[in-house]
Amino acid sequence: MSVVETHAFQTEVNQLLKLMIHALYSNKEIFLRELISNASDALDKLRFQAVSDDSLHEGEDELAISVWFDKNARTVTIRDNGIGMTRDEVIANIGTIANSGTKKFLESLTGDQAKDSNLIGQFGVGFYSSFIVADEVELITRKAGTPTAEGTRWVSKGEGEYTLETVEKPTKGTEIVLHLKADMDEFLDNYRLKNIITTYSDHINFPIKMFKTEWDNDAKEQKTTDELEQVNKATAIWTQSKSDLTDEDYTNFYQTLSHDFTEPLAHIHNKVEGTLEYTSLLYIPKKAPFDLYDRERRYGLKLYVKRVFIMDDAEHLMPAYLRFVRGVIDSADLPLNVSREILQSNKVVDKIRSASVKRVLDHLAKLAKDEDQSAYNTFWEQFGQVMKEGVIEDYANKEKIAGLLRFASTHDDAAEQRISLQQYIDRMPADQDKIYYIVADTHAAAKGSPHLEIFRKKGIEVLLLSDRIDEWLVSHLFEFEGKSLQSVTSADLKLDEEAEKTLSDDEKKAREALTEKVKKALEEQVSDVKITHRLTDSPACVVSAAGDMSAHMARLMEQMGQSVPKQKPVLELNPEHALVKKLDSVEDEAKLKEWSLFLLEQAQLAEGDQLEEPAAFIKRMNALLSEML
Ligand code: ADP
Ligand code: MG
Repeated sequence: MSVVETHAFQTEVNQLLKLMIHALYSNKEIFLRELISNASDALDKLRFQAVSDDSLHEGEDELAISVWFDKNARTVTIRDNGIGMTRDEVIANIGTIANSGTKKFLESLTGDQAKDSNLIGQFGVGFYSSFIVADEVELITRKAGTPTAEGTRWVSKGEGEYTLETVEKPTKGTEIVLHLKADMDEFLDNYRLKNIITTYSDHINFPIKMFKTEWDNDAKEQKTTDELEQVNKATAIWTQSKSDLTDEDYTNFYQTLSHDFTEPLAHIHNKVEGTLEYTSLLYIPKKAPFDLYDRERRYGLKLYVKRVFIMDDAEHLMPAYLRFVRGVIDSADLPLNVSREILQSNKVVDKIRSASVKRVLDHLAKLAKDEDQSAYNTFWEQFGQVMKEGVIEDYANKEKIAGLLRFASTHDDAAEQRISLQQYIDRMPADQDKIYYIVADTHAAAKGSPHLEIFRKKGIEVLLLSDRIDEWLVSHLFEFEGKSLQSVTSADLKLDEEAEKTLSDDEKKAREALTEKVKKALEEQVSDVKITHRLTDSPACVVSAAGDMSAHMARLMEQMGQSVPKQKPVLELNPEHALVKKLDSVEDEAKLKEWSLFLLEQAQLAEGDQLEEPAAFIKRMNALLSEML
């Protein structure tokens, strides 16, 4: 006499379902990994809550997952005796996309199947992956500690709606019955299911059980017995010693942990004994997750206390700039009832965190020193920008992180960031005492900047920076190994002194007269006009006045909606350039102003600035060109 209610899915759920079924078709077996992962989470939660309320076990000793199939009914069933769900929780967790990451994920889809299926792989696809293989899914669940009459049965064909019914469920936990699609018979097979489990879920921390099979000589086929056997290793891998583990074990656990199909780039496994006792198993992924820059994204490590799972995404265990690190910390020194708030200001956590950060940085330094740079290059391409945040955020490790930075350079043909500060120092001439760099909006703009002309002529290497964060990076990184970093656009560049010395007094005077003249003409636009020797091919360039923020920084701040006080640049003229020589000979005041404005504006353009009146610039240029023709 129970009532069957029909509910509609949230629209996003429909979207996600459709997409997933298409995108993941070639990886369809991952449904089992996802359902086992959920079962394992439910068991973790039960074990954790039962620490303070033993009655939640409801008399069952063993926490386990079982998987079986029924050839006649064409179903595969996954059962756990974990925490279970109330009716309201079923609606909230299964009918809705509660996770903000899921929404972001849907927004980030491109419509290109190949790309999207890659995305979906990085993302825990979860419960809905059942619909890749099933055309009807049944979920029967009861929350631990609630009356047996208060079970909930959820059923859906994955087509816009689901039904809910209150049912009797004697045992706590969740059972999921997949009614397989017509072409999914391959999963009605013990060997196949077992194989998927050992591939994807071997290191799930609870036993996964299946019915044993026996060879039936009469029927000439494998027959299922009613005896259960454990098919996974079910060891907390991090508690095992390194020498007992293979790379495959580590990869398998990484995939269980991260839902990422790829192999990790590296794993770092340490057991610490002494005043503090804990184990850490950390992974550096090969690929950045799609939401690496999503501020709302939770990140961090899984925290266990004496092998009892405490929480996911314990963000206090890793600083923000290492948010791509995945893994597990298992501590013997924290209380089981530790909360996020306690973690925030806990000495044990602080110590574990700083030691873990050090291990990650040291490991990266080791990778960076490898003869074969391909692993480090991959790492840098994926996570380089995030590592730069570390220079700003992590004062204590600044020097170490600086050593890991890689840059594009005028002395490297590749546009990729491959040159370290140490490499720069190692190959610079003995009399050079600075590390020169330029920051621009794009690599091409940096590489083409007129500011580099003198450096090219002198053969001095300049690092080419064009990531959004670079301007902040250089405002926090002043030196490396005793060499200070200097922007090639800064006003007090000292490269041109030599040239000054060889000038006669008359020449000096003539130059002064020129700069005075132009300065007067551009009174409103510039703070100063100077002669420069940093240019060889261009007639002029602009630099920031000493003490002002760089033009590039000012642009970035404006893009972020910050108001930046109007700064007047310094205009520098190349006295050897034909246009500047010509300018020197202009007597008419109005004309001089036009010429000067033209030089200023083209210098600003070269810098990547937006002109206030582009049309006026074009007009000016055309007028000057016509005059010359
Ligand atoms: P995720 O596991 O990333 O949260 P899923 O789609 O896999 O996303 O699952 C959604 C939610 O449904 C889970 O967070 C959990 O609250 C609930 N859930 C799924 N399976 C189970 C289960 N076997 N036992 C209890 N709760 C479950
Ligand atoms: Mg899940």
